Amino acid sequence: MDHQKNQRLTVEIEDIGMNGEGIGRVGGYTLFVKDAIPGDLAEVSLTKVKKTYAYARLLRVIESSKDRICAPCPIHRQCGGCQIQALSYEGQLAFKQNKVKNDLIRIGGIDETYLSSILEPIVGMPEKSADKKEIKGRGFRYRNKAQYPIGKSRDGEIIAGFYARRTHSIIQTEDCLLGPKINRLIVDTVIKHMKNCGIPPYDEETGTGTVRHVMIRHAFESGKIMVCIIINDRSLKRPEELVKALRAVDGVASVYLNIQTEKTNVILGEECILLWGEDSIGDTIHVCDADRDFAYTDESLTFHISPLSFYQVNPVQTEWMYSQALGFLNLQGTETVWDLYCGIGTISLFLAKHAKRVIGVEIVEQAVEDARENARQNGIGNAEFFAGKAEEILPEYYRTQEDDEMKRPDVIVVDPPRKGCDEKCLETMVRMQPDKIAYVSCDPATLARDVKYLSENGYLLTKVRAFDNFPQTVHVETVTLLERKEYDHTSDPAAV
Ligand code: SAH
Repeated sequence: MDHQKNQRLTVEIEDIGMNGEGIGRVGGYTLFVKDAIPGDLAEVSLTKVKKTYAYARLLRVIESSKDRICAPCPIHRQCGGCQIQALSYEGQLAFKQNKVKNDLIRIGGIDETYLSSILEPIVGMPEKSADKKEIKGRGFRYRNKAQYPIGKSRDGEIIAGFYARRTHSIIQTEDCLLGPKINRLIVDTVIKHMKNCGIPPYDEETGTGTVRHVMIRHAFESGKIMVCIIINDRSLKRPEELVKALRAVDGVASVYLNIQTEKTNVILGEECILLWGEDSIGDTIHVCDADRDFAYTDESLTFHISPLSFYQVNPVQTEWMYSQALGFLNLQGTETVWDLYCGIGTISLFLAKHAKRVIGVEIVEQAVEDARENARQNGIGNAEFFAGKAEEILPEYYRTQEDDEMKRPDVIVVDPPRKGCDEKCLETMVRMQPDKIAYVSCDPATLARDVKYLSENGYLLTKVRAFDNFPQTVHVETVTLLERKEYDHTSDPAAV
């Protein structure tokens, strides 16, 4: 049957796609339906028709999925941030667990029965928010970083909000439910100052106006807040008044201006000016015992966050995830470790206390400097950091260095961006023959692809656990362990 634009169809939704859209089939024809969730029987209208599939708009939910809930955020359908808010939290966890499992089977070529024997249950969010306050519903108010674009409404009022999906128009909301409630007060305080002083918001089209974004970062444990106002100028009118108003907000410890005068989508410019307070806020990450429900141990690390530093956005899951990697690796204190894609050295320093020597590799120079500083401040002397691409540094080291200890490391940890590891990097990892590889991933599809490569080159996937670092979105993190086949591991199915 031929399909046409605006055609109405009834479809049962079975799955969730890469961008959070519901997927259903009519005959053999696949429909991608934004805002529909698995289990919905939906009436839809086709918006973009292709030969074997179409995009469609949700007109009406005829029969609601048992996992459908009333999404708490009034703008979740327009805003690009949360794709699966209408799915119950349990439903979100089940979807993510399934995604990791299916990708490892389909793309990774892992045997289903074997995978079921090693796959642990996904780790979801606790009932309390990251700032330890009671919240309605799990998986909200977890983010430690928010960036609100500032602009004008149609009738000329200054507003803050979020960009509508795939556009640059701002939808007003001062209270994003992924961040702490107090963000709203901070954003309002900045807007009030703009109104008092006649400071115009930035206009993307003309490149005129001043205030572009307000960025807020929280260190949840200490309760400290950093406010950074990103401007298309070199200064802001009456800064002392703004500082005074922001200081009145409980927790504000640091107020920055960031200068971004380029006409670009990049939020932050390179230059930051401290208007008042501390130049960085320290966040504590606890080492937890992954085998005892992530109970705190007496070990912890402190990381200093400045406006430009990269830092994981979900502090609760972050410490669990790192602790899980540590638990999987079961370090004895004698191991040599590479930590590739190390960012500001979070995982490297986590492992350093339990290993003999760690080398971290990271492409962003500033992050490497932060990593070195973090090592120093935490009193860690056995971690070194190199700036560069993992796929260049590692082969180069292997080829040119005499250092057998690091050419034949015991452990390699990787935590690459969504595109996964470069094949040159994987190739060298295999040559180095570490006994264990811990692969921390933010994209199950590329994880599965890389696991396939490692499986075909002497490694066996022995542990897998997913973590819900990004509730309400389709993203999921996974921590896995691969062991060298000649290495004496206990869960080798070939040995059974
Ligand atoms: N492990 C860190 C960072 C993970 S994010 C943490 O948990 O905080 C992935 C990191 O890889 C980013 O810091 C990014 O800058 C870095 N990166 C991206 N491509 C890279 C490459 N080719 N080689 C090395 N690092 C890279």
